[in-house]
Amino acid sequence: MARALRGAAGTLASAIYHTMMPVRCAFCERQCGIGRDLTEKVTAICAECAGRLPFIRANAFRAGGGPVIVPLRYTPMVRKAILQYKFGGRPYYRKAFSFLIASRALSETLRTGVGYDLVTWTPVHRRREAARGYDQAELLAAGVSGLLGVRKDRTLVRVRETAPQSKVGHRQREVNVEGAFAPAAGSRVAGLRVMLVDDVVTTGSTAEECMAILLMGGAKAVTLAAVATGKAGVELESVRGG
Ligand SMILES: [Zn+2]
Repeated sequence: MARALRGAAGTLASAIYHTMMPVRCAFCERQCGIGRDLTEKVTAICAECAGRLPFIRANAFRAGGGPVIVPLRYTPMVRKAILQYKFGGRPYYRKAFSFLIASRALSETLRTGVGYDLVTWTPVHRRREAARGYDQAELLAAGVSGLLGVRKDRTLVRVRETAPQSKVGHRQREVNVEGAFAPAAGSRVAGLRVMLVDDVVTTGSTAEECMAILLMGGAKAVTLAAVATGKAGVELESVRGG
């Protein structure tokens, strides 16, 4: 009986601890609420950061012959949050980021009437995933898949480790990713409208390599989606700045 009570008290204490977990903004890390998520840390975007985020004008950026779903410009504020997500042990930031991608995708779908059959992602090499403990693009794809109610599936594998595109000269970027990806065994994309999710799009060379593989596999259409782009000259929404 005593043991059962202790167990129950422990469960309650744990539930309260997790319930009281502060919600921190993914961009400034300030507390902006109290969590109600009992299973994991929660994250959000505070009102102040939401007002300062460098939102890109819809359809301002195209890759692989179509518009890219990309809500933000890769400014220092956005870069800091994404680096924390990728290298700072904060995989739970995916909630804030996948929310930004999904809401931009949804408003596009409402405008065009065209949706998606499958959400997939640009994979990191297995060695890099093992070192980090997660594939940041896969987590984003999972978040977007859940928010849009579209099935997620692995369709690509990275067969060759490549230097990060940000560390390679502009002209070397296409060569750097050439032959780096292959179709995942057993995946089927024929006839499907696919959303390809990545964290950041630089020149679009990596994405175009992946999009070509998916189109060769018979995909009806492939749309690239990412949290941010560092591509120069992409127009921001009116008065916003980062
Ligand atoms: Zn904030």
